[in-house]
Amino acid sequence: METTPAFALLLDVDGPIASPVTRDVKPEIIGLLGELGTAGIPIIFNTGRSDAFIREQVMEPMLAAGMPEGFTVHAICEKGATWFSFTAEGAGVVHVDHSLAVPEAYADDIRRLVAEKYSGHMFFDETKRAMVSVEQHVQVSNADYRAEQELFDADAMAAMGRHDLGVVRLDHHVPGSDDTVDYRVDPTIISTDIESVRLGKDLGASRACELLRRDGIVPAAWYTVGDSRTDYAMADWLHHNDHVVSHVDVRPADGVPAKPYEVLTAAYLGLDDDVIHDDAGLAFLARWRDSLALAD
Ligand SMILES: [Mg+2]
Repeated sequence: METTPAFALLLDVDGPIASPVTRDVKPEIIGLLGELGTAGIPIIFNTGRSDAFIREQVMEPMLAAGMPEGFTVHAICEKGATWFSFTAEGAGVVHVDHSLAVPEAYADDIRRLVAEKYSGHMFFDETKRAMVSVEQHVQVSNADYRAEQELFDADAMAAMGRHDLGVVRLDHHVPGSDDTVDYRVDPTIISTDIESVRLGKDLGASRACELLRRDGIVPAAWYTVGDSRTDYAMADWLHHNDHVVSHVDVRPADGVPAKPYEVLTAAYLGLDDDVIHDDAGLAFLARWRDSLALAD
């Protein structure tokens, strides 16, 4: 049997759901996710974070708040390389696409590099299964971290060369000896992600559709939510595959690109431009919850 909810939510986590400052999730957001799920709205996280992060920061608080019977949340982690689902009973098995993993010898080099040279500003995320992520310590100022990150990224690029792996960082391409570029060094505001070029929020969007379809769920429309330019890839993919989609940008300071679908910011809710990150995420979740209450 097919069900057609009015819309589904495809949510980046860092920024719209978890505070980029404290890295945790406001109880009000946990409450709203539960209410939307109870109303039959599919919720799928699409994050660069690990499954462990999502279990701890999102799943456990949602379980503690009480999840209704029959409500399944999907979590696509590591930009599509891993995924799992959870219900009131807890987490299911974590799937890993090993063909999308960074070679282990390279990951070991980066772990050593961080320990020897960068441990004052950043740490190696041991919970990642396919990506290599090196993240800012919460107690370090972001400005200090960003300066050090430049140096780290240059070292990470050089290590790619030593392993004869082709790599791209922003617009800088350094192919391997076979002329391929299979990996990416991606600096974000609080981390550097090193990953297969095949990973991305678009891969996460395609996995999200697959997971819902498996359960006979075909949403009438989608809202995608993110705080980075790369998050638009979710909406791009859905739009190109003939889904109705609106994208919510909770940190539009980088400018809102022209898109063939609707892009919403806090201003759409009549809020000021300084309502960003999880404050904007919270406001949109509340709006969607209210829209369902009105439709009843
Ligand atoms: Mg984000």
